[in-house]
Amino acid sequence: MSLYEKHTTVHPKRIDGRFRRFKWLVMLVTLGIYYGTPWLRWDRGPYAPDQAVLIDLANRRFYMFDIEIWPHEFYFVAGLLIMAGIGLFLVTSAVGRAWCGYACPQTVWTDLFQHVDRFVDGDRNARMRLDKAPWGASKLAKRFWKWTIYLVISFWTGGAWIMYFADAPTLTRDFWAGSAAPVAYATVAVLTGTTFWLGGFMREQVCVYMCPWPRIQTAMLDEKSLIVTYKHWRGEPRGSLKKAQKNPDKFGDCVDCNQCVAVCPTGIDIREGAQIGCITCALCIDACDRVMKDVGRPRGLIDYATLEDCEREAAGHQPRPVWKTLMHPRTLVYLGIWTAIGAGLLFALGTRERTGLTVQPDRNPPFMLMSDGSVRNSYTVKLRNMQGRPRQMELAILGLNGATMWTDDMAKDEAAATLTREVPADVALPLRVYVIAPRGTTSQDFAFRVTAKDEALGAGESDSSETHFDAPEPM
Ligand code: SF4
Ligand code: SF4
Repeated sequence: MSLYEKHTTVHPKRIDGRFRRFKWLVMLVTLGIYYGTPWLRWDRGPYAPDQAVLIDLANRRFYMFDIEIWPHEFYFVAGLLIMAGIGLFLVTSAVGRAWCGYACPQTVWTDLFQHVDRFVDGDRNARMRLDKAPWGASKLAKRFWKWTIYLVISFWTGGAWIMYFADAPTLTRDFWAGSAAPVAYATVAVLTGTTFWLGGFMREQVCVYMCPWPRIQTAMLDEKSLIVTYKHWRGEPRGSLKKAQKNPDKFGDCVDCNQCVAVCPTGIDIREGAQIGCITCALCIDACDRVMKDVGRPRGLIDYATLEDCEREAAGHQPRPVWKTLMHPRTLVYLGIWTAIGAGLLFALGTRERTGLTVQPDRNPPFMLMSDGSVRNSYTVKLRNMQGRPRQMELAILGLNGATMWTDDMAKDEAAATLTREVPADVALPLRVYVIAPRGTTSQDFAFRVTAKDEALGAGESDSSETHFDAPEPM
């Protein structure tokens, strides 16, 4: 027995039908979102970029329309990733491998490249003939033309990716002028190569051999999950239309036309049962429905169904209504968790303040004893203004009796219990703060508090941070 399965090129046939049209729609939407999003503009005023979705690695910010995420708020991104993971579980539990069949990037780009194949080489039979034909001028020209289109799509795909990390119009100009960062060219080169190879040549092999998700999904599917299934009790024994017409009682509905296999993008025969190669794209349903219509039999010989419903139908009962199929307990549990995380994130987003403070005490030396017996500690304090405009912010000392403070940019004589600074828009302003407490002050905890003072939106927002004041041991 060979442990290696020889690769057979799949040449899916063109098909039209409701699922194919749905696939077109999903492809249009997903590719439109991917290629178009970086070009959406969003006015954030003069102090922030105008790109609606931007991962600004240099300044450590993530912008998404009106939302700006700072590094210390990364839990929002983590929450979104967790929601995406649970969302996949939810979709799988409700409608089987719909992600694989419609929205997975590998599926979408493979589908796109298969349309390029049809456009250049023709439909299934023409492509199979061309594959077998010896190399000559016509085959060379077609291959060159087809691979050039692959390359353009791949380059465009890689190019779109880097636009999420910098201002898209500026980066495009710099890219073509040769003055973009080397990492931009390297990223485009890597993504062009992987898209060209995975979408143009590896195709269904990624789903069958490389991707771990089908293995995880098979563990998640049960007899209540929706899958694309062939109804054996209706189709078997199969036989050609001619044979069935001669001997109608002997044959089932399947006329063995192989159309379901011909249109399958992974090249499998769904009549052999559920299998890992089936991405549930439902194109075989379109193909078989068309055949059933042509031979005057009811549609649905291949259909979306749960194994439980298949057994009911085989026993002569009506299948359950769709809402019952979709709403089984595991799906509801996933939906509950997904909704709870989403609601938690929305709540956190709606109630977060755009003013912040971090405090780092100097540890070497922990304190300085002054000639008059007072004690000085120093700290690095960062005042965070997370709004897109400059703001006046007041820093105050809480819980350290008689203490005053000054900074590098003022004289020690001006030390006070509070100080006010203008913090530029969208900036964490670092201050070196010296806190001096009267003779006799002992080591103790205290806090800094920052309060936004301006009258506009966000005034009165405050944040505080606990820290420690070190002093010599009492004699
Ligand atoms: S068997 Fe049908 S649903 Fe499964 S991948 Fe092939 S065409 Fe798509
Ligand atoms: S398309 Fe339908 S009728 Fe034709 S082989 Fe497939 S299951 Fe049978």
